[in-house]
Amino acid sequence: MILPTQLTAVPGTDSLYVWNPEGAGRWGYANCLWVISGPDAAVIDTPYDGPTTEAMIAAAKPLLGDRTVRTVVNTHANGDHTFGNHLFPGAEIIATRVGHEHLHHEPTPQQMHALVHQTPPDVPLGRYLREHFGGFDFSSARLTPPTWTFSGRHTFAVGDTEVELYEVGPAHHVGDLVARIGDVVCTGDVFFHGDHPSHWAGPLQNVIDACELVLGFNPRVVVPGHGRPTDPAALEAHLVYLRAVQHAVRQRHEGGLTMEKAMEDLARPEFYPDLGLPERLMILISMEYSHLDGHATAPTVLELAGRAAAWSYR
Ligand SMILES: [Zn+2]
Repeated sequence: MILPTQLTAVPGTDSLYVWNPEGAGRWGYANCLWVISGPDAAVIDTPYDGPTTEAMIAAAKPLLGDRTVRTVVNTHANGDHTFGNHLFPGAEIIATRVGHEHLHHEPTPQQMHALVHQTPPDVPLGRYLREHFGGFDFSSARLTPPTWTFSGRHTFAVGDTEVELYEVGPAHHVGDLVARIGDVVCTGDVFFHGDHPSHWAGPLQNVIDACELVLGFNPRVVVPGHGRPTDPAALEAHLVYLRAVQHAVRQRHEGGLTMEKAMEDLARPEFYPDLGLPERLMILISMEYSHLDGHATAPTVLELAGRAAAWSYR
């Protein structure tokens, strides 16, 4: 993986820059949005491990100058958006209250390291974790939880730039937020651009509602959680996809099909062939079935990843 050596200015702004690794087709390479304004700086989301975060900080250095990053925002608690927090010492780390309360459900960096290297390689999950996560150095990261949490809505300033945070979870994760800075919106993982998404909380309707909220802001630029920054038309196209998945899954659930049979139906080569990681449809189907069945406890991230891995190597 070749990481970007510089931040990319968001066109039409004088304070926004995106760290945009080639995230499509891969797990774990999320976008981070930098706000550098006046004497102040903030970053929305941090990368998955120490070396990747250090590479991002080095890329930001020419623009950052002698400013320090005073604020880190985590759009949700997944490690690919938070494990770099420890490399911003002294920064206020902002997240939703719900996301913080559920932090103990997330694997720590050390647990991630053990999962990737100790799950037997001859079971699908072990093989999948090595293949998709083996390139990260989780042992280099240190869990650094939020220092400030909110519910609903929160606004803060970076220099003379205003950042508005809106809680939209449970959708991709229990504690999702989206960030609006003028006509630029950073969606976190309610929007994956270029891949089938993985959503761990849901139901899918909540992801759809979150995307609709973003479109309602009338944004000019949409920075997805993963994949290329884009325009609202791409988010609208993604909403069509989400509704198609939702409809197809509901139909098959009503028809009494097993999740595996629903997956067989849905993950055909002609269904959105340009999107990567089709095995993630298994995660969407599993979560939606769990909601439709009214289960009090959702399948765990590991159960979901195990099902996706099993389908991937079927
Ligand atoms: Zn992510």
